Amino acid sequence: MYRDNTKVIHIGDRVIGGGNPVLIQSMTNTDTRDVKSTVEQILKLEEAGCDIVRCTVIDHEAALAIAGIKKQIHIPLVADIHFDHRMAIEAMENGADKIRINPGNIGGRDRLLEVVSAAKERDIPIRVGVNSGSLERDIVDRYGGVTAEGIVESAMDKVSMIEEAGYENIVVSVKSSDVLMSVHTHELLAAKCPYPLHVGITEAGSLLSGNIKSGVGIGIILYEGIGDTVRVSLTGDPVEEVKSARIILRSLGLFEGGIEIVSCPTCGRTQIDLISLEERVRKMLDKYSSLNIKVAVMGCAVNGPGEAKEADIGVAGGNGEGLIIRKGEIIRKVAESEIVEALEDELKKAFL
Ligand code: SF4
Repeated sequence: MYRDNTKVIHIGDRVIGGGNPVLIQSMTNTDTRDVKSTVEQILKLEEAGCDIVRCTVIDHEAALAIAGIKKQIHIPLVADIHFDHRMAIEAMENGADKIRINPGNIGGRDRLLEVVSAAKERDIPIRVGVNSGSLERDIVDRYGGVTAEGIVESAMDKVSMIEEAGYENIVVSVKSSDVLMSVHTHELLAAKCPYPLHVGITEAGSLLSGNIKSGVGIGIILYEGIGDTVRVSLTGDPVEEVKSARIILRSLGLFEGGIEIVSCPTCGRTQIDLISLEERVRKMLDKYSSLNIKVAVMGCAVNGPGEAKEADIGVAGGNGEGLIIRKGEIIRKVAESEIVEALEDELKKAFL
C-alpha cells in the first residue's frame, strides 16, 4: 500500500506527498554560474523525463544565476545550499522553487529563522536531510557508530528546528551509501515523519554499481510504499540518472509513460551484432521518450517474433537481416544495416 498519509507539498507547479505520483529528481553537474551550460543540461534532463532539478548554489553569483536559468527551463528548480544562509535567501529571491539546507550548518538559530521567514513569505518548501557521512559526532558516539536509528534521530532533530521556527512546508531526505541501512532508515523514518520523503542511495557509484544499488535500494523502499521523489545518484551524466529512475518507477508500476526496451541476452542462435544493434536502437529511441510503448530487440527469428509479441514494435535478427515486427506480426524484412532506420520509419508511422 502506497503511503498517502504524508503532507502534500507544492514544489513550483509540481505536487508531492499525500499519495501523489512519485517524481524524478536529478542534479546538474555544471557550474550554476554558467547559465548557458546549466540550462542546456536541464533541458536535456527535462527531455529525458526529469520532474525536478537541483542546482548547487555556492556563492552570490550562483544565486543570481538562478533567475536567468529559471527563465529558460520548464521544471521546478531546487537550490542546494551549504553553510551560508544568505545564499538560501538569495536563491529564493531569484526564483528557486525549493531549497535544500542542513539547518545544523547554516550558522545558528537566528540565521535559520531568517531563512525560514524568507521561505514562509514565498511558501517555498525546505528540504532537510541527513547524509550518513556527515552524521553529528555525538549521535555517532551515542549509537556506537553510524546507524539507521542515529540517522533518523538527526533527521527528526532538523525537522524540529524548522517546525520550531513555525514552518511545516518540509521535505525530508536520509541518505546512506549502504543499501540495507538506507532501507531500514526509511522504514524507521516513515513511521515517524509526516512529511514527504526524497529517496536515494547516495554515492552509489558508476553506471553499473550505481544503477544496481539504486535499483535494489530505491526499489525496495518504494515497494514498501515509502518515497515521494527519487534520485538515482550516478558518477556520470545526470541524464542517465533520470533514465534509470524511470526504469525503476516503471518496473514498480509507478510510472506509465516512456519507452520500455525488451532485449534478449543473445545466445548461440544470434546471427547479427545484437549488442551494437540494441545500443543503436536505444539511442534512436531517445528522441521519442514521450511515447508510451514497448520495443523489442531480439536476436533470432526462431524465438524473436514470439518473444516480441508483447511489444508494440520490434525487430528479430536473422542471418545479416532483421524482421520488423508490429504487435507480433512480421511486417518487413530488411538488411542488417537498415534495421534501425526501418524500425524508426515504422515507429513514426504507427505511433506519431
Ligand atoms: S531471442 Fe533468439 S537469439 Fe535471443 S536469446 Fe532467445 S533464442 Fe537466443
